[in-house]
Amino acid sequence: MPQFAEIALPVPMRQNFTYKIPASLGQPLVAGMRVKVPFGRQQLIGLVVATSEHCTLAPTQLKSISAVLDNAPLLPEPLYKLTLWAARYYLCSQGQMLTQALPVALRKGASAAPESIQYYQLTDKGAAATLDSLKRAPAQQKVLRQLQHGELSTEEAQALELSKTALKALIAKEWIELKQRPLQADCRWRQHLTLAEQPLKLNKQQAVAVAALTAQQGFTCTLLEGVTGSGKTEVYLALLESVLQQGKQALILVPEIGLTPQTINRFKHRFNVTIAVIHSGLTDKQRLDAWRLARSGEAAIIIGTRSALFTPMAWPGVIILDEEHDASFKQQEGVGYHARDLAVMRGHLENIPVLLGSATPSLESLHNALSGRYAHLQLGERAGGALKVRQGIIDIRNLPLRAGVSQPLLNEMRLHLQAGNQVLLFLNRRGFAPALLCHECGYLHECDRCDAFFTVHQSLGEIRCHHCGNQYPIPLQCHHCGSTLLQGQGVGTEQLQAMLSEVFPDYPIVRIDRDTTSRKGSLEQQLAAIHRGEYKILVGTQMLAKGHHFPDVTLVGLLDVDGALFSADFRAPERFGQLYTQVAGRAGRASKPGTVLLQTHQSDNPLLQDLLHRGYGEFARSQLIERQQALLPPVWHMMLVRAEAHQAADADGFLAAFAALLPQDDTFEVIGPLPAPLDRKAGKFRRQLLVQSAGRRRLQQVFEQILPQVESLPSAKRCRWSLDRDPQDLL
Ligand code: ADP
Ligand code: ZN
Ligand code: ZN
Repeated sequence: MPQFAEIALPVPMRQNFTYKIPASLGQPLVAGMRVKVPFGRQQLIGLVVATSEHCTLAPTQLKSISAVLDNAPLLPEPLYKLTLWAARYYLCSQGQMLTQALPVALRKGASAAPESIQYYQLTDKGAAATLDSLKRAPAQQKVLRQLQHGELSTEEAQALELSKTALKALIAKEWIELKQRPLQADCRWRQHLTLAEQPLKLNKQQAVAVAALTAQQGFTCTLLEGVTGSGKTEVYLALLESVLQQGKQALILVPEIGLTPQTINRFKHRFNVTIAVIHSGLTDKQRLDAWRLARSGEAAIIIGTRSALFTPMAWPGVIILDEEHDASFKQQEGVGYHARDLAVMRGHLENIPVLLGSATPSLESLHNALSGRYAHLQLGERAGGALKVRQGIIDIRNLPLRAGVSQPLLNEMRLHLQAGNQVLLFLNRRGFAPALLCHECGYLHECDRCDAFFTVHQSLGEIRCHHCGNQYPIPLQCHHCGSTLLQGQGVGTEQLQAMLSEVFPDYPIVRIDRDTTSRKGSLEQQLAAIHRGEYKILVGTQMLAKGHHFPDVTLVGLLDVDGALFSADFRAPERFGQLYTQVAGRAGRASKPGTVLLQTHQSDNPLLQDLLHRGYGEFARSQLIERQQALLPPVWHMMLVRAEAHQAADADGFLAAFAALLPQDDTFEVIGPLPAPLDRKAGKFRRQLLVQSAGRRRLQQVFEQILPQVESLPSAKRCRWSLDRDPQDLL
């Protein structure tokens, strides 16, 4: 009998902890079970990583496990192995990685045992009712229409944003009922899968892609590069049909902004199976319920954002990442894991295929596809037969601008509006003006806690710092000279909207940015109103560029092209290319081709010309060659060491000591310590060290080797520091 157990605990120390196994436990302890242990003065819940009969520490120094919470490992073996692999790759403790992988309720000790599922179902009376009879109650009509497709779990009803009042009213009328049944291991969908709607007839390219994907056995990673509207989702659906037919589950990861009722509905309407929906907005209880649905096998499809990657499946069949280039797949806080990279590793460990889809693939995935590491499928035509967009550049050198908009663009807008179409203007700065300027002394009002200017929010009467949340009423006098001649400098979406409502008083305008969509459901409502044609002019930040199709938009204008192209970040051109292509792809339809206009001071910029004339695919391939020549990711591998402290010297001193421990040669490069692009944030100085290596393995070995020394550096205690592997953002 082993007497000692190694436990992974949710603490920031990069290590596991050894405890004694008391004889009184009465059950064997296996890796992957949760236990409760004393830690300092608290009791923590951790996961058993290993057990052994020997221990190098004196038994008197060891404490005993207080309780065991599971009678079997919590995670299936491949998933458990994934968390161990990820902890090593991202150089954090296993406990920290497990914290990412487990729902909060389980980390607090909730039972993992399958419970029951609650669902809505039509009664006989409801089944006999017609949709027409609910014409006056559209919310109830929506519920009835959904339930005519089959039962809905309470979670699905919520994810589809069905009205609670409508559900209650229908229960009161006895048209629907809320029922409960235990989660079943022999789930009905596995015995008998029925399609709730007929699939579209695939076009040739789609058919070729589906044939290749359904022939895959075991692990293969495939990049599906398909222009916007080429029918990638239809390919996913066809692949799912084959996977579900074999009685296996599918995990679908989507960007944060892409998880809408429309997305869920597309899957629900095709397959009529239980779908577990997982995202950061769930309560702890809902999250655990969804986790159980997936682990028990009751949910045939699991759709979620980044963290859904860690959801266990009883019969894993396939992992699909849609819009794989999206930045929201990389976690920015805490352990900076990338869901795309971990999805590929999970597919490998589970021995199932992984499909990455995008119209604008990341250079990482493109590199892997072109070098033959991934299979590569392409869809080159718009499935609905929509025409290619017309594109043009407006050179704004020497042109007068109104709230950032040139006269040629205003003229073009008028033409499209008069023809009864919608126009979308895209500006990636929210607020009224990105800075507050004193006309007399030239002072720009700067956040007292950051190295950044205050953004003016006219409608709120406030100036706000977008980096730390600091906010004040708009000052009446200059903080520097006392003058009252203060004015906003630069243009944000709020100002753009105000100008447009003066120029086009007859055309209703909607603004979509983080300020106007912070209330839950408000984005959905605004998008629905756009689709109903209630708004003619759409103003938005990059929120508008993702995942939404606007068939009645025939003109798209990009206003801050220069700002997007010129940035310290080496990924800026890639991001701009993705943004431009996504925005352009959202506009128009077969009968109404779209026009995209870019305003720039750099009309002859070669990058821009490349993108416009050869399209994202070619543009990305030439970017990849540039990255190769510049020894940048994805060809070389990067680690960013960040440090922040109240005294700049503390952060600098620590990073200098860190750098001294790192090798420097032809295949290993260390840059810094340097100030971060945002030098001071929330009162702290921020410094960074950029480490690049020609080989992934060497980077890993070097850091594993020196981290114990780094942790014992005296200067390490005088700052907060962190490692960001494969950083996506150098801020
Ligand atoms: P993507 O995900 O590549 O942007 P979608 O799968 O959303 O594209 O498809 C775009 C549009 O084309 C949708 O309205 C879809 O219904 C339609 N579509 C897709 N495949 C076909 C097909 N084979 N035949 C007809 N219409 C199709
Ligand atoms: Zn002044
Ligand atoms: Zn600030």
